[in-house]
Amino acid sequence: MSSLSLSAEDFQILRWVGEVCGNSEPCILFEFAQDSGEIRAVGNAPQNMSVTELVDRLDILVQRGLVNSIFHKKVLQCVLCGNVFLRPKTACPSCNSEDTMRSAVYIHSCGASIPEQALKNLTSCPKCRDTLDKSSFTVVDYRFLCNSCGNLFPDPATFVECSSCGWVDMVKNADQIVLRRYALTAEGRSLLESADPSKLLVRRLVDSGYNVREKVRVVGLSGTSHLIDVVAVSRDRSETKLYTVMYRVTANDLISSTVRRLDIEKTAVEGVAGRVRWVVAGVQVDESAVRVAQTFGVEVEKI
Ligand SMILES: [Zn+2]
Ligand SMILES: [Zn+2]
Ligand SMILES: [Zn+2]
Repeated sequence: MSSLSLSAEDFQILRWVGEVCGNSEPCILFEFAQDSGEIRAVGNAPQNMSVTELVDRLDILVQRGLVNSIFHKKVLQCVLCGNVFLRPKTACPSCNSEDTMRSAVYIHSCGASIPEQALKNLTSCPKCRDTLDKSSFTVVDYRFLCNSCGNLFPDPATFVECSSCGWVDMVKNADQIVLRRYALTAEGRSLLESADPSKLLVRRLVDSGYNVREKVRVVGLSGTSHLIDVVAVSRDRSETKLYTVMYRVTANDLISSTVRRLDIEKTAVEGVAGRVRWVVAGVQVDESAVRVAQTFGVEVEKI
């Protein structure tokens, strides 16, 4: 079955992409936190993965044809602290002084270019020594003038300064983060559909004679609201199975489902009949989860 080649992490990511983007055009999965400038995943992203890991895994899913992605934007980042709030700075390419100004440049008939600021102090051309007739000049361009070394240049050197740690370097030396937009491909959508553990389980329960309801809400003894993934009542009403469904069942999941179970009065669940059994079901069941299940007396089913 094709879903077997899908790891629990892949499944989580595909489901996340599907939830955030639906069937729409490639959409934004990562954004910058306004306060810290950190990149974070939007929506209900898998909790156990860092942004870097999510991006790496998305790349692999793109290579497998399950997700497609397009360029969104590129962001410069401080190489020391990772901040993305960088201030641009310009400087003289010759002496690195920031004391430069943008200046109109006048061209003399001999070809000399003379900045506006210099013009008012000149009576003759510094190149050909002719007397300057200022009315005959035309502005053809703008240049930058360095007040420190007198250099006249078309393009200043560009730097960035980190607003958080003060790191300064040339723009080209900043780290570059490329953000992409993502969407499920048709193949990704159908694989997600066919690997959905709840759907697989419901199909199987219906085939073996259960009446099934999904996402049944119940209020626990503590007042907490719980969602039971699947409630399955046998057709002869001799038993009810209350399912917690996940793609991959870990030991931790079993422990938290056991705690949750203690908070729920079986009879509080609408429509229960006969003997009530709590079951945790998953497509993959960890070895350690099997041991925990035996210790706590939890029923575990592999879907
Ligand atoms: Zn200079
Ligand atoms: Zn001249
Ligand atoms: Zn920094």
